[in-house]
Amino acid sequence: MYLRKLFLEGHITFSLEIFPPKPGGDFEPMRAAVREMTALKPDFISVTYGAGGGAIGRTVDIAAYVQSQGVPALAHLTCVSSTREAVGHVLDELSGRGVTNVLALRGDIPDASDFPSPGHYRYASELVSDIRARGGFCVGAACYPEGHVESPDRLHDIEFVKRKVDAGCDFLTTQMFFDNNILYRFLYRLLRHDVRVPVLAGIMPVTNRGQVERIVRLSGTALPPRFLAILDRFGGDKRAMRQAGAAYATEQIIDLIANGVTNIHLYTMNKPDIAAEIMANLSAILSR
Ligand code: FAD
Repeated sequence: MYLRKLFLEGHITFSLEIFPPKPGGDFEPMRAAVREMTALKPDFISVTYGAGGGAIGRTVDIAAYVQSQGVPALAHLTCVSSTREAVGHVLDELSGRGVTNVLALRGDIPDASDFPSPGHYRYASELVSDIRARGGFCVGAACYPEGHVESPDRLHDIEFVKRKVDAGCDFLTTQMFFDNNILYRFLYRLLRHDVRVPVLAGIMPVTNRGQVERIVRLSGTALPPRFLAILDRFGGDKRAMRQAGAAYATEQIIDLIANGVTNIHLYTMNKPDIAAEIMANLSAILSR
């Protein structure tokens, strides 16, 4: 099933995310997490692609396993560390196993002195074009409400997002954000640039202080005072932080849906229990 069809129906969609184990890591806990997540009946589950292009076989296997449990999968695919030929093989494998939804990503640059390597992709927009030309996939791409860390400013950032959409991307998924006003302003900027594809709002339930410190270091995501107060008050207490993090994510989602943002993607970080808690908090809202 192509996800673009789902988004066109205009209902609230709710999706989850899983990341594969490292090479050599155990597969069974992953399968168990997939089974717990599929039992929650999300609209789809996205499966991340190992940083630097590692563990790709695992992304394909897990995406196929998600679909065997009756839930559509969205396979992430990064291109900067692979040749065009290697990316073509991954697409062959995905399509051979019935996975027809791909999130086309550049990936982080492994070694800036070597970028772009001959025969490699430079930007995600090139990958979107190639997948489109090949056919047989619904293609999504990433976007950054606060701008991508390498972008000189937000205007350039939107122009590059538009290139991905013009290249044929069907939908966008946002980087996580903790202040909904940042997303609302971003959505206005997209409209001003005539970017009209569905935008999935990426929400991360923060369950420990270390996790959020890592996120801020890597992506520069802003933390609003309300969220900082929660971190200060509960960051040292695992159980309290988990509860407050789930409640904060729930409130963010309620506000988004109340303001007409209907596609919600939860960065579940392989924690089905958090997903279950948040979905239970939203049960009447999600069933509308
Ligand atoms: P691009 O869209 O290519 O953008 C990269 C940078 O180049 C941006 O600064 C952009 O503004 C700029 N740019 C784009 N086009 C041009 C141009 N023509 N000229 C000049 N500058 C340009 N990483 C993983 O390794 N695995 C994953 O599974 C994964 N999943 C992700 C899911 C989501 C929803 C998001 C938001 C990110 C994910 N990432 C993942 C991280 C992502 O790979 C990095 O953020 C990466 O640095 C950028 O990828 P991109 O696809 O956004 O790149």
